[in-house]
Amino acid sequence: MQAIQIIIKKRDRQELSSEEIDAFIQGYTRGEIPDYQAAAWAMAVLLNGMNERETTDLALSMARSGEILDLSGVVPLAVDKHSTGGVGDKTTLVVEPVVAACGLPVGKMSGRGLGFSGGTIDKMESIPGYRTNLSQQEFLSQLANIGLVLTGQSADLAPADGKLYALRDVTGTVPSIPLIASSIMSKKIAAGAQAIVLDVKVGSGAFMETEEQARELARRMVSIGRLAQREVVALLSDMNQPLGKAAGNALELREAINSLQGNGPVDFVEHCLVVAGEMLALGRKAVSPAAGYQLAKTALEAGAAWDKFRQLVQAQGGDIHYVDQPEMLPKASVIVPVLAEREGYLSQVNARAVGETVVDLGGGRHKKNDPIDYAVGVITHVKVGDMVRQGQVLFEIHAQTQTQAYQAKRRLLEGVRWSDVACAPLPLFYDVIR
Ligand code: URA
Repeated sequence: MQAIQIIIKKRDRQELSSEEIDAFIQGYTRGEIPDYQAAAWAMAVLLNGMNERETTDLALSMARSGEILDLSGVVPLAVDKHSTGGVGDKTTLVVEPVVAACGLPVGKMSGRGLGFSGGTIDKMESIPGYRTNLSQQEFLSQLANIGLVLTGQSADLAPADGKLYALRDVTGTVPSIPLIASSIMSKKIAAGAQAIVLDVKVGSGAFMETEEQARELARRMVSIGRLAQREVVALLSDMNQPLGKAAGNALELREAINSLQGNGPVDFVEHCLVVAGEMLALGRKAVSPAAGYQLAKTALEAGAAWDKFRQLVQAQGGDIHYVDQPEMLPKASVIVPVLAEREGYLSQVNARAVGETVVDLGGGRHKKNDPIDYAVGVITHVKVGDMVRQGQVLFEIHAQTQTQAYQAKRRLLEGVRWSDVACAPLPLFYDVIR
């Protein structure tokens, strides 16, 4: 089977068979199909779509491109979470320690930034020494020892997704429902998850900008889960404005640390507790998501989640001084406030503008192997619905040069909309699909 024929078939809007999908994915994983053909194929999928059967076949083929972890000997019920990506979304950094502190072990493989959306692994790598390339053996033994792992996607688990994910990031092929659904579910299946909470983001700072698209993505993933005999709950959550305040790797890590110490932004902490509640219910540690929420809140308030996070950093080789004294984390040379030029109610604080600004400042990648600057980013001090006075701080830009900061300021202000009449705040969640 020639790769070119499979590309042409999808270009011409035809349905690919299970064998064709598998041949393409396994060939790409082995290096027999080059990046340029995989990029053309991904673009054809983005433009012409895939049906539910093709999407499930793609997820299963990518999961089978490497080993599939069996966690049954380590945890009674493996529960995982995954976010579809957003701006300021440092949820994993807080939720995983909270859940582990409640007695539900969690081992998670996370990704790097993708387009304008940040990545958990980049954020954790702001801590000097923190290893994100654990071997399978290290993953299993850390999960058994401390009940918490937060690592990158290992080369032996869903390697096809690892390659394709990096390629999509730089070829404009991220926002595709079948590619996102199969990417996420392949990683979850390969990592041995029996039950999964999906945090499906909706809005300007998400790959799915409308609620209908997000619902379709959630439905696809729930359906893949069902066919693969996994229990899946999908939350539709807002991503029109940044979650919490910080966007940018070390800035987000700092905000996660503050949250674990009881000083996080209200919206972000609430978001984390809801996600944790769902995970604890799926993991049979709580009788319902509401009971799970209470359990999670207690673990956070008692400091148990913060202790777990410290254990995680130490177990993965991170220098604990940077976590205990976050002021040691990388810092930008230029910190500039952006002030409100008028008074009024905020009707929009565009999350995509914030995410793209962070990438342009150097906090994300334009090309596949671009290095990233952990220090740069944006702190958003306001939310939609806020009444703002002239001169009030809207944003704080963390940049390396004045020129970058100036460009960032213009970009951020373009993403703000004003109203003379009161505007409703945005909800945190739109729906739950069980
Ligand atoms: N997150 C993933 O894991 N994959 C995608 O394709 C998009 C977001």
